[in-house]
Amino acid sequence: MDQRISLINKLEEHHNLTKSEWVDLIAQRTPQLAEALFQRAAKVRQAHYGREVYIRGLIELTNYCKQDCLYCGIRRSNKEVNRYRLSDQEVLECCKEGYELGFRTFVLQGGEDPFYTDERLIPLIKKIRYLYPQCAITLSLGERSKESYQALYEAGADRYLLRHETANHEHYGKLHLDNLTAKSRQESLWQLKEIGYEVGSGFMVGSPYQTIENLAEDMLFLKELNPQMIGIGPFIPHHATPFHHQKPGGLELTLFMIGLLRLMLPKVLLPATTSLGTIAGDGREQGILAGANVVMPNLTPSIVRKNYLLYDDKIGTSDEALDSYKVAKEAIESIGYQVVVSRGNSLNVEICGKVT
Ligand code: SAH
Repeated sequence: MDQRISLINKLEEHHNLTKSEWVDLIAQRTPQLAEALFQRAAKVRQAHYGREVYIRGLIELTNYCKQDCLYCGIRRSNKEVNRYRLSDQEVLECCKEGYELGFRTFVLQGGEDPFYTDERLIPLIKKIRYLYPQCAITLSLGERSKESYQALYEAGADRYLLRHETANHEHYGKLHLDNLTAKSRQESLWQLKEIGYEVGSGFMVGSPYQTIENLAEDMLFLKELNPQMIGIGPFIPHHATPFHHQKPGGLELTLFMIGLLRLMLPKVLLPATTSLGTIAGDGREQGILAGANVVMPNLTPSIVRKNYLLYDDKIGTSDEALDSYKVAKEAIESIGYQVVVSRGNSLNVEICGKVT
């Protein structure tokens, strides 16, 4: 126990560990150690962000996808999916409703859908930018070309979420078909940063074939990337994917990783994700208590929501936007935190390549 506590001390002081130290700390975690970690993580989060929790309005733009990721319910081979695309009008209605509820960040997420060319996305982004000049526009549309990232940034997008999924190249290969590589995913993240986006990355906890070493590599990669936001959540099997029979990722390990991320990158934004809320009724609350400070309620029109199923039993699929917002707000308030009307910028900003 003492040796593990001293690793947590080191992490808190130096904001980094070596690969073998990460492995030791994660492999030898205990409930008592987790408790100590969460207390430190809550203190660090409190020092930078107080008791404020930022909300992001998630708009699931399309469930068409040209990719075939083995874990994902909207992979192209899944013929059970009723495919949909939101029109510009529908997206703008989601933004309007979200704005009225207090959202100041809109996240447009979707499968990799070739229908959404730059020519289609640019006018939509410009319209949102024009109507909501004080809101952040976040995109999460998978891998695109550098030119496309640049064009969408110039149209008014500020942030891009692209989880690296797993930093280990071999492990990445076991979760995706050959056309997708860890190298190109990571290159995209560096390109997005270079363009000037605030970047979000992250990984699934307990994805098939994941080892503790892989998690250690995820920590090292994220330290190097130094993103503004890190989204992690447990892997949850989807019945119509090749991984339908695989074990889901654990609540306890996910919470432990959230605590570690908070100590490694004190100012990073950490969402308590929908998948965390799916594996445990109070998963999002527990995520906040472990060090998270963001939640992403769903603004997608209720008639198409049930078709954006990345995994089984996803929460909130029959809700209206108002319900998703209320449920999240009540959960946060029940543990003594507040939802704030704010863009919720990351304090993890780099000026001229230097971390402030
Ligand atoms: N097409 C976009 C958005 C992907 S969906 C992109 O490529 O980034 C957003 C995230 O959901 C993924 O990055 C993945 O980490 C997560 N996800 C997908 N399937 C999942 C599953 N079965 N269990 C848990 N998380 C999953």
